[in-house]
Amino acid sequence: MTVGVLKESDGENRVVLLPEHVAYLAKKSISVMVEKDAGTGAFASNQAYNEAGATVESRADVIKGAEVIFSIKAPEDKIPEGKILISIFSPLTDKALVDKLAKSGITSFSLDMIPRSSRAQAVDVLSSMATVAGYKAVLIAAGSLPKFFPMFMSASGTIKPSRILILGAGVAGLQALATARKLGAVVEVFDVRTAVKEEVESLGGKFVEVEGSTDDSSAGGYAVEQTEEYKKKQGELIHERASHADVIITTAQIPGRKAPLLIKKDTVEAMRPGSVIVDLAASTGGNCELTADNKQIVHHDVTIIGNSGFPSTIPSDASKMLGKNYLNFFELMIDEEGKINLDVEDEIVQNTCITRKGEIVNERVKGDLTN
Ligand code: NAD
Repeated sequence: MTVGVLKESDGENRVVLLPEHVAYLAKKSISVMVEKDAGTGAFASNQAYNEAGATVESRADVIKGAEVIFSIKAPEDKIPEGKILISIFSPLTDKALVDKLAKSGITSFSLDMIPRSSRAQAVDVLSSMATVAGYKAVLIAAGSLPKFFPMFMSASGTIKPSRILILGAGVAGLQALATARKLGAVVEVFDVRTAVKEEVESLGGKFVEVEGSTDDSSAGGYAVEQTEEYKKKQGELIHERASHADVIITTAQIPGRKAPLLIKKDTVEAMRPGSVIVDLAASTGGNCELTADNKQIVHHDVTIIGNSGFPSTIPSDASKMLGKNYLNFFELMIDEEGKINLDVEDEIVQNTCITRKGEIVNERVKGDLTN
């Protein structure tokens, strides 16, 4: 069997498999075709892929020759019927793409649909990329702030530590907390899920609590829409804490929906001059009213950085993590001889399989598309 690795479009530095992952597949007698220059952005040369046992080919030859195609974004190319595509393509929101994949007759998997179970952790591309994003958000904030993060006591006087407010204590928020603490900042964290309080405290953060949040045990650990009364209380508290913060990092998301609006314009205007907001929810509308996706703006002397693309800025390690996630996923669909053996009853396969035999087969996607 042959796996094909495609080069991503411009602006994406990650590659879905590195040479080290190719060597792992070679041990299972699975050959790998890599599109020429696919690894350039992640510092993996064509020669390194060759040395690991892959063949380096044109895009057309990879699409024609590989039975299974790996990519980060779903390719726009026409993929011949019967092939398998493993990718990350937001099927809950991109209806046109899902229809196109169904019509083409390929079996497609979108790894952003993995269930958030313990067994699925090794396949969880959302978690691995959120780890990268949370870490990088703090470094970007530290680099943009006109102040130090840690406290300094020296003959030149005492410098107070910076105060960081993190909104959303999921994987990205907790990684941002850990990174900001390592740099010596004082960190406060807010989340509608009060269950994360202990985790926040164990990482050295202070949990900012708003009473009366709505939890839904059927939401798989995810946040759900809150009542208007709660949102009002939350808005007032965030406004108050924001006015004391030097940096705000926002990570709050609700799967399949627009990101919740947590920082209004007047809150930005209440922040100290020179403060920085890094909005990781920028691609789903942003948690800050003034966020512009993929842009850095300044309002009232507050810098607002809207960026959901940080994983591509740490391409070597992000690709290393992604490659491991993809291989762990692929292992679920092959037998001991390295041949495809799809168990459609498997929870992870079922959640991620979007199209098959010309149809949309994913229940969540079918439900959302008909709503
Ligand atoms: P996410 O990216 O969907 O959201 C980030 C955070 O924003 C979440 O903590 C969410 O509660 C919070 N949020 C949403 N609306 C908010 C609001 N209005 N105000 C403040 N905060 C708000 O989250 P994620 O990082 O993907 O994690 C979601 C859940 O999945 C968590 O419970 C996490 O522990 C769990 N998880 C489980 C696994 C696993 O077991 N395989 C892996 C990763 C995450």
